[in-house]
Amino acid sequence: MNPSTNTTPEVLISEVGPRDGLQSIKSIMPTPTKCEWIDALAKAGLQEIEVGSFVSPTLLPQMADTAAVVQHGLRHQGLRVMALVPNVRGATHALASGVHKITLPVSASEAHSLANVRKTHLQMLQELRAVVELVREHNTRTGSAVSVEVGLSTAFGCTLQGLVPEDDVIRLALACADAGVDDVGLSDTTGMANPAQVKRLFTRLRQELGPRAGAAHMHNTRGLGLANCLAAWEAGVRTFDSSMAGIGGCPYAPGASGNVVTEDLVFMFESMGIRTGIDITALLSARATLQSALPQEPLYGMVPEAGLPKGFRPAH
Ligand code: ZN
Repeated sequence: MNPSTNTTPEVLISEVGPRDGLQSIKSIMPTPTKCEWIDALAKAGLQEIEVGSFVSPTLLPQMADTAAVVQHGLRHQGLRVMALVPNVRGATHALASGVHKITLPVSASEAHSLANVRKTHLQMLQELRAVVELVREHNTRTGSAVSVEVGLSTAFGCTLQGLVPEDDVIRLALACADAGVDDVGLSDTTGMANPAQVKRLFTRLRQELGPRAGAAHMHNTRGLGLANCLAAWEAGVRTFDSSMAGIGGCPYAPGASGNVVTEDLVFMFESMGIRTGIDITALLSARATLQSALPQEPLYGMVPEAGLPKGFRPAH
């Protein structure tokens, strides 16, 4: 490689497919296939992967092998292995597995919070504080540096509550930061966001939280996923959640993915000259693992269908 070439990524693409994707589809991917998929993603240059969630295996049998998948992910040097936990119990298992980062879902809408985790905002904040304390103890005891992230779900609207006031979102984000989490991101769980709203809310979040303002987790339910990612980028966001082939994220609209498609997102940034650190050709090849593992599931993505344009040059 040319030593003058700067390869430091300018945006971090956090792949959520193995968690967000696989937990919302019926088929259960066998552990070796999950590991193979993670290997292919890491090989393509993904630096952060949410590999699973520590939830009750009766509730989500797709995620029963998360500890094994975490342990496999840890073999990749330079890969940050993340897992979702809903509570202290999940955090205990996550810490035992050796994850680098824990993410907790906190609903901006109280109605969604009650439906999703059967907790009010107040109860969820209590749980959050307990998780933070557990992680701090673990870090002190083991000398590790596990971090805790919150993704505020339904931050741009809720199918139960409808409109979610922006003041409520910011207030809750501040409360999460007060509880000691390392960063707070915003999720468009229901695919209701528009670019103007995304830019406005992330600008405010960054003003209030500074470097602790976290990732943009956008959905493509109504076709605005990439536009919303770009709006978040313009507001200063540099971490983006997406899933390979757009799997997961509960797609309501036929023909539209739930999660933003990683392949399309990487293409957008790279073609704009913004480095992702991901080799898009290797990324497109990694899709083959999914294709053969989930023949029943629809796979999304415009770039995988159309191919890279003639003469395409990645950012450098
Ligand atoms: Zn999602």
